[in-house]
Amino acid sequence: MNIREFFPLYEVARDPARCVKCKLCVRECANEVHAFNEKLGVLTADDSKCVNCQRCVAVCPTRALKIVRTDNTYKVNANWTGDAMREVYQQAQTGGVLLASMGNPQPGPIYWDKLLLNASQVTNPPIDPLREPMETRVFLGKKPGSILRGPDGKLIPNQTPQLALRKPILFSAMSYGSISYNAHAALARAAQELGIYYNTGEGGLHEDFYAYGDNTIVQVASGRFGVHTDYLSTGAAIEIKMGQGAKPGIGGHLPGIKVGPDISKTRMIPEGTDAISPAPHHDIYSIEDLRQLVFSLKEATGYRKPIIVKVAAVHNVAAIASGIARSGADIIAIDGWRGGTGAAPARIRDNVGIPIELALAAVDTRLREEGIRDEVSLIVGGSIRSSADLVKAIALGADAVYIGTAALLAMGCHLCRSCQQGKCNWGIATQRPDLVARLDPDEAARRLINLVTAWDHELQEIMGGMGINAVEALRGNRLMLRGLGLTEAELRVLGVKHAGE
Ligand code: SF4
Ligand code: SF4
Repeated sequence: MNIREFFPLYEVARDPARCVKCKLCVRECANEVHAFNEKLGVLTADDSKCVNCQRCVAVCPTRALKIVRTDNTYKVNANWTGDAMREVYQQAQTGGVLLASMGNPQPGPIYWDKLLLNASQVTNPPIDPLREPMETRVFLGKKPGSILRGPDGKLIPNQTPQLALRKPILFSAMSYGSISYNAHAALARAAQELGIYYNTGEGGLHEDFYAYGDNTIVQVASGRFGVHTDYLSTGAAIEIKMGQGAKPGIGGHLPGIKVGPDISKTRMIPEGTDAISPAPHHDIYSIEDLRQLVFSLKEATGYRKPIIVKVAAVHNVAAIASGIARSGADIIAIDGWRGGTGAAPARIRDNVGIPIELALAAVDTRLREEGIRDEVSLIVGGSIRSSADLVKAIALGADAVYIGTAALLAMGCHLCRSCQQGKCNWGIATQRPDLVARLDPDEAARRLINLVTAWDHELQEIMGGMGINAVEALRGNRLMLRGLGLTEAELRVLGVKHAGE
């Protein structure tokens, strides 16, 4: 059947009155949407190739371009939407799993937007962050339950290794492979300047970035790509990745198209092959097994590094977190239902897991009830979009947040959600040298620093408005939150009152 079943989702709208035929759009589009017909002297566009990355719109010197959503429509059907039909056609044609990237774009409750923050009035006056000190530093790791003193009354240090952050924000795991060398360089430089951390993801650590080890979290995932002694000892902390919000229950997938010589060397895998990490760690089938890996990694690094265990937010996440807290891990990272990815099956990304807000509240409550909250710190990610989300996450119980998509946006990503194709026109999710060169790591680092600095200012302002002068006093302070338009069950899980109560 040769009938063209797909009508392009996006159309290139070019204003001929503005276009000066500079052909920049032709040169800049890695998807080869634009072309110049020499014979006719006109620019043409193949809409079917457009992923709406907005690169041509941004570079066009005369603002002659717009990308518009097509108004072609299938017969209206509330059940069989155009998207649902298109996906069936696609699978009928290819017989394959629908691959997607970035976070779940489907509609669904965003609890951050249904939580409102408090502010002081009359009593317990607000604090002015411009005139009074505010503490946004946090330390991640176990907190000792008691102070130990020797017979001479002197303090006996009983602190386990901690990650010290100048602001309660970390860049979440994004592997070298899924993102480019320049994107990694920008994250590493920004983390160092900001006094925070970036995360290698499961791609190993390029030799050029060993210099940023003090601001690097090195990940150990099920595929063990790029994991060796030097790698482990270079990082400031080690993260065992058990799960990821965008793809709970399955392993990672880096398409072979992105595995060039450098990636192959860093990951210690053959060039051009798909890097598919197994769904489970083949040595972990229980909390006891996890404990063995936690202590093997501690042993391998002389008990000098905190160990993070990262899990996806799934139905019984509170019980899982309780087990992890008892496994000897120092930090638990929870990645929510809207967490990003470089490549994942769309059905899994959009349907498996639970929102991070509910998972975080459930975990914090459970750890407190069991009296083990101070045994671990909590980092959450999976769509932290602003400083308001950050404040709400801390008030729900997080010690710090991971930001991934927001960091990519800061570097220039336009959320076209086609990272898996390896042709990112912004030089981020690609390994093509000509495209990678488009991302200036210094400029990208400056933008990341600006973003985190801006959020830190806003965090201080919001905390000051509440009459709180330290992140430590905000952590788990759910009295600072009220729900809006939430059901009894949602309020119960979140542990917050409804607005007006
Ligand atoms: S970049 Fe803009 S002005 Fe240049 S050819 Fe394309 S549409 Fe025309
Ligand atoms: S990183 Fe690049 S390919 Fe991925 S969503 Fe952003 S702009 Fe698109």
